[in-house]
Amino acid sequence: MRIDVFSIFPALVDAFCSESLLGRARTTALLDLRVHDLREHATDAHRTIDDAPFGGGAGMVMRPEPIFASVRAAQPPRPLLLLSPGGKRFDQQMAKTLAASGGFSLLCGRYEGVDHRVVAELCDGEVSIGDFVLGGGEVAACAIVEAVTRLIPGVMGNDESAASESFEGGLLEAPHYTRPADYKGWKVPEVLLGGNHAAIEKWRREAALEATKKRRPDLLGS
Ligand code: SAH
Repeated sequence: MRIDVFSIFPALVDAFCSESLLGRARTTALLDLRVHDLREHATDAHRTIDDAPFGGGAGMVMRPEPIFASVRAAQPPRPLLLLSPGGKRFDQQMAKTLAASGGFSLLCGRYEGVDHRVVAELCDGEVSIGDFVLGGGEVAACAIVEAVTRLIPGVMGNDESAASESFEGGLLEAPHYTRPADYKGWKVPEVLLGGNHAAIEKWRREAALEATKKRRPDLLGS
C-alpha cells in the first residue's frame, strides 16, 4: 500500500515510521510510505511556506502554492486527507476502510492551519484524531499511518491478534496476563492457568464485556 505524507517537518514523520512494525513494513512491498517536504516547493529564497492571514488576527497561515505544487509533483494516492481538529473523527472503522483501500495521503498543517483553498480545491476530506489541538498534523499522521498499517494483511506476525483487539465486535479487549502467575501476591485469574480453551474464551468474552460496560458503555449502544 502506498501512503504519502506532506509536511514541513518530514523528518518527524520519517523517524517515527522507521522503527518497529512500521520500519519493518517499509522494508517490504506491503508499505510504500513517501514523506514529502512541503518546503521544497516554496518559491522564494527564504523558502517561506506561511504568511499572515487576510483580515488580520493571530498566527500565520500556510500558503497554497507550495502545497499545490508538492501534491502535483508527487501525484499521491487519493483520498488526500487534511489533518485538522475539525475533521471527521478517526477511529478503528476508518482505519479498516483505509487499510482495505489501494492507498491514501495525508497533509499535515502547522501554525493556524492551511489556506482554505487547499481544503476546498485540493483535499478530498479532513480527519481529526480527537477533540484537542496539536501544534501540527505530524503526530496525527503518524497515529493514522500506524493504525492503518498494522491492519494490512501480512504486516502483523499473527493475523489473529487484530481480530480480538479492542473495538472488534464493538468491545474493548479483555485484560492480558503473563508470567509470573503470582506477583507480590497479585494472582492471575485461575482459569487462564489451565488448558481449558473453551473456559478461557468464555472468561475473555465476559471480561471484555465487563471492561466495555465499565469504561466505554457508549460502544454497547443503548
Ligand atoms: N487553528 C486551528 C488549529 C491549528 S493546529 C483550529 O483552531 O482548528 C495546527 C495543525 O495541527 C492543524 O492544521 C492540523 O493539521 C494539526 N492538528 C491539530 N490538532 C489536530 C487534531 N486533533 N487532529 C488532527 N490534526 C490536528
